[in-house]
Amino acid sequence: LDGYFHEALSHCTLCPHECGADRRAGRKGFCLAGDRLQIYRYGGHHGEEPPISGSEGSGTVFFSRCTLRCIYCQNYPWSQEGEGNICEVDDLVAIFRDLKQASCHNINLVSPTPWLPMIVEAVNSVRALGVHLPVVYNTSGYERAETLCRIEDLVDVYLTDLRYADSRSALEGSGAADYTAAARAAIREMWRQKGSLVVDSEGTARKGVIVRILVLPGREDEACASLEWLADEFGPQVPVSVMSQYTPAYKARGMPGWTEPVSRKEYDRVVELFETLGFEHGWMQDPGNTPEELLGFNMKQEYEKETSQ
Ligand code: SF4
Repeated sequence: LDGYFHEALSHCTLCPHECGADRRAGRKGFCLAGDRLQIYRYGGHHGEEPPISGSEGSGTVFFSRCTLRCIYCQNYPWSQEGEGNICEVDDLVAIFRDLKQASCHNINLVSPTPWLPMIVEAVNSVRALGVHLPVVYNTSGYERAETLCRIEDLVDVYLTDLRYADSRSALEGSGAADYTAAARAAIREMWRQKGSLVVDSEGTARKGVIVRILVLPGREDEACASLEWLADEFGPQVPVSVMSQYTPAYKARGMPGWTEPVSRKEYDRVVELFETLGFEHGWMQDPGNTPEELLGFNMKQEYEKETSQ
């Protein structure tokens, strides 16, 4: 194991919080992850962007804990409240093999960062056994470029959010005032490593970066600022998923300014800018879907536009 990951559990600086927590000694950092791998559930998932879900589904592994504290988190029972099973690296290897057997197109690691030391070991082991699937790093975007540098060979596709362009929103919504600077630096590193999306003959992703813009209520200006930044920084070939699925879940139900879903008007304004900036690859959700349709493990997203592939 790379020394960086070997040391990480004794002095954790895996994410931008850089808590320095000695997780091996029972100390907890911001994410509250311990020193034993914890997984909530795994399985084939059809609710991601079409190149990730493909026809057979994405082999999704939901890890417990998270480096952010989003007040609207739909996954809060495991991301915030720590539900999940303690696992060994070998269990994760077995999960990867199961997902391969189930014909999933990829291994989709959801909020993996606190568990990278164990994940690196498990991916190396499963590859040594001859099991090869593209690895999708499915992240909030709150990542340290220094950590991403060390997983260049492990990851094939970065599926990342870019949620905020304002530190007050980032602090209120997710407990991380430095989110925008961190996520932008992280996306630069992701793009340096992987570039635009490469798909196979069936249109499923082999390599690349997809950036998700989650439109937040009353904050469509921030989504627009993120789109402008992406266009300036990487040009129109960066694949973008514009998401309308914000739902006031968890603590957001009682938080002024966060209690409403995103309106069609707010969402359409972001889509309009997406068109104006000339992005070549992207997906939209249908903001007309009910919260029930947009929530849940087996949700189906309706994409109105698909210009890639
Ligand atoms: S992964 Fe957790 S413990 Fe490590 S730096 Fe981030 S928040 Fe702190």
